[in-house]
Amino acid sequence: KNPVPSDIEISRSQKPKKITRLAQELGLLENELDPYGHFKAKVDPKLVSERIQNSSDIDQTQKGNYVLVAGITPTPLGEGKSTTTIGLTQALGAHLGYTSIANVRQPSMGPTFGVKGGAAGGGYSQVIPMDEFNMHLTGDIHAISAAQNLLCAAVDTRMFHEHTSKTFKGFYKRLVPVKGGKREFTRSMIKRLEKIGIEERNPDNLTDEEIKKFAVLNIDPSSITIRRVVDCNDRFVREITIGEGKNEASKFPPRKTGMDITVACELMAILALSKSLSELRERVGNIVVGTQKDTGVAITCEDIGCAGAITALLKEAVKPNLMQTLEGTPVFVHAGPFANISIGASSVIADDLALKLTSPSYPANAGKKGFVVTEAGFDFTMGGERFFNIKCRNSKLYPDAVVLVATSRALKLHGGAPDVKPGQSLPKEYVTENLEMLAKGCANMAKQISNIKQYNVPVVVAINKFKTDTDAEIELIKKLALEAGAEDAVPSNHWEEGGLGALDLAKSVDRVVSMDKPEPRPNFLYDTDKTVEEKLFIIASKMYGAAAVEFSDLAKAQIETYRKQGYDKLPICIAKTQYSLSHDPALKGVPTGFTIPIREVRCSAGAGYLYALAAEIMTIPGLPTHSGFMNVEVDEEGQIEGLF
Ligand code: ADP
Repeated sequence: KNPVPSDIEISRSQKPKKITRLAQELGLLENELDPYGHFKAKVDPKLVSERIQNSSDIDQTQKGNYVLVAGITPTPLGEGKSTTTIGLTQALGAHLGYTSIANVRQPSMGPTFGVKGGAAGGGYSQVIPMDEFNMHLTGDIHAISAAQNLLCAAVDTRMFHEHTSKTFKGFYKRLVPVKGGKREFTRSMIKRLEKIGIEERNPDNLTDEEIKKFAVLNIDPSSITIRRVVDCNDRFVREITIGEGKNEASKFPPRKTGMDITVACELMAILALSKSLSELRERVGNIVVGTQKDTGVAITCEDIGCAGAITALLKEAVKPNLMQTLEGTPVFVHAGPFANISIGASSVIADDLALKLTSPSYPANAGKKGFVVTEAGFDFTMGGERFFNIKCRNSKLYPDAVVLVATSRALKLHGGAPDVKPGQSLPKEYVTENLEMLAKGCANMAKQISNIKQYNVPVVVAINKFKTDTDAEIELIKKLALEAGAEDAVPSNHWEEGGLGALDLAKSVDRVVSMDKPEPRPNFLYDTDKTVEEKLFIIASKMYGAAAVEFSDLAKAQIETYRKQGYDKLPICIAKTQYSLSHDPALKGVPTGFTIPIREVRCSAGAGYLYALAAEIMTIPGLPTHSGFMNVEVDEEGQIEGLF
């Protein structure tokens, strides 16, 4: 339709097929599916994997083609990575006839009701029903909030009870449960005994010294690293004081803390990176909640005894959610770690599952190759780097191609055009032909291409077409992308035309994944064995183009603590602005010679990475004057309006 209607209108005008039918098309069995209403279902990855593993007809070494969609350094408007992910999957699946699955993140309701709006793609390349996608889905984010808040309550309560107990022996007696008249350690208590080297397993036989060592965690309240969460852009909980009720405050000092948006918590990163429920249980146990006073020993979720309950809360969340695109092709929506401080990619479990379901030897595919298209948040230099060095290193799944999304508007911004702001009309440079600015800005695309090439994967540049782009502009981007070493560069009009508009892009991706790939593969940027400082320098210099990395005293002290605690051999996630290759959003194009300032280094031991802050990073956004929520209404039929 022309003009293209709003996203919610498009979503509503298409009747989705029953999720049970979509699952059947994918060759899933009824018992592997847990429908939530008619258009969403959870898929049990364990049952599917076991069935595939036990089938002698399926070649276990074959998988679908793994395609990563990433972007150039964007404008604040977004350059269409999600839209391209969906458009490309629609083209591969609905037009070229391959089994093609899009794997995307579940959006947080914070941005949905804040500035950015929905995240289901856009135009004629969307996940539907988009309202269900953008709100609640099957409750995974709610489950994570519940689990994280349980852990926080457990930690504060533990400190409170230890503090208010008259004797450590009395505390121990209340802590260890009595079952059938006998005192018995729980599973997590046994793990704690193992950790601190106590061999005795009968609670009644511990010496006083052992009891003290076991029961008194003595957490330093100022060292607590976990925060309560809410899935809402509520700026008023960024800094709060807890424990002010009279029953608590009279016995234990209130504590300053703050809340984060749910998707920023480590549990969300753990959901994204775990390979199974049992591995999730292990990772949850490894979350560091704070440090012990005097000794500096890391106190974990396992020490608090909370890992089992958290796993129980997340046992459904670990199953990917099946939905569909506007053109009826499958989509897995699963996990959504906050790109600001975490990996910004969907889950390993969903990727693994989808790659199995798209294998040529999987019966439903009848020998045909298949595709899994997934996305890395932010630009390639940040999101893609984390995707390879953290997610792929952990999953052992490695992309066959990267699709780099470029738009004339972002390239013009890098070529000197004035800033653009959401909600304001675009300056004239963006809506009229300007080959000079465009050519200059293409340097950013070239740097992104050469960054991708460091991982030995082929690159197809998807030129996401906007109405005002001229033929000469498209040709110029294409020419400069090829000169920069991309295997191909293809204009794509999927926003306006759906899968049909991405047909050339899909054909190009189809061709490129079959090409011989340069060795060595996988090719990670750094060895995790290197020091934290070395790893940071490698990322900053090889990806960002920095000349040096500078550490604050705080960062130096934190790195030393992690070295002592044995957390220094983890990969690193750098948190910085996405609006520049550097740490400074004002530096457009391809800045050089800058020094990346590392203010702080934090540890996500459960998720399995350190994260370094190269800027003041917001872990819960705020709402603007005119917020997305103001547009939302429900009509007489119960249909939602105004979610764009
Ligand atoms: P990203 O994933 O890179 O943040 P999105 O795919 O969410 O970007 O797109 C950002 C916004 O731009 C969405 O509202 C989307 O509908 C819109 N958009 C994307 N591509 C186009 C296009 N070619 N023409 C017009 N609007 C587009």
